Amino acid sequence: MTNSPANATSAQRPETPFCIVVLSGPSGSGKTTIVSRLEAESPVPLVKSVSATTRAPRKHEVDGQDYYFLAPEEFEQRRARGEFLEYAEVFRTGCWYGTLKSELDRARKQSAWALLEIDVEGAQNVMQQYPDALTIFLTTPSVDEFERRLRARGTEEEHVIQRRLETARRELEFANRYQHQVVNDNLDRAIAEIKSIFDNKLRECCEHA
Ligand code: 5GP
Repeated sequence: MTNSPANATSAQRPETPFCIVVLSGPSGSGKTTIVSRLEAESPVPLVKSVSATTRAPRKHEVDGQDYYFLAPEEFEQRRARGEFLEYAEVFRTGCWYGTLKSELDRARKQSAWALLEIDVEGAQNVMQQYPDALTIFLTTPSVDEFERRLRARGTEEEHVIQRRLETARRELEFANRYQHQVVNDNLDRAIAEIKSIFDNKLRECCEHA
């Protein structure tokens, strides 16, 4: 094994250069599962950014852990104060989602990379501000497969499913703007591919640090 930054032990490893990782993909592409696995298995310390949203919490969602659940007025005040790195109205439901700049600081303080699981619109915004960000679009083999997974989840009503499928078709059109497209045809394979993308990015960052 060569002594590259990516496979050095934590004792040998120099300070990890900071990086923003953007992960997008339509509902049903398996983002949530992939994010939890990456938090545990990433070759680089990773902090998942907790987004702010105006949507209501779902059952079992915890404020400050799954999202910062904000009233629309507070979201707007914080947006006006410039506290967001990016924000977007997702799924045209009137619900706003955004990444607080303080989440990047939280990751930096832990010498970790910040993982942003955000929609395509927010991602475009981050790409413009941070051209060095690592961008990954997660997809499944087909829209039919999205539909099957979305229905299997059983958390959404029919009209919400229809709107999310429409959004999925629109989001797929953005896929080629990301540096990497990973097909989640098999969870372990997709995780391995993303870990290898991280290793390569870490090597690249260390070479330029
Ligand atoms: P959900 O309501 O199912 O938790 O999330 C809906 C969508 O909002 C997901 O596609 C997710 O990527 C997106 N999203 C979550 N947080 C953010 C954020 O901070 N910014 C943007 N632009 N989109 C987000």
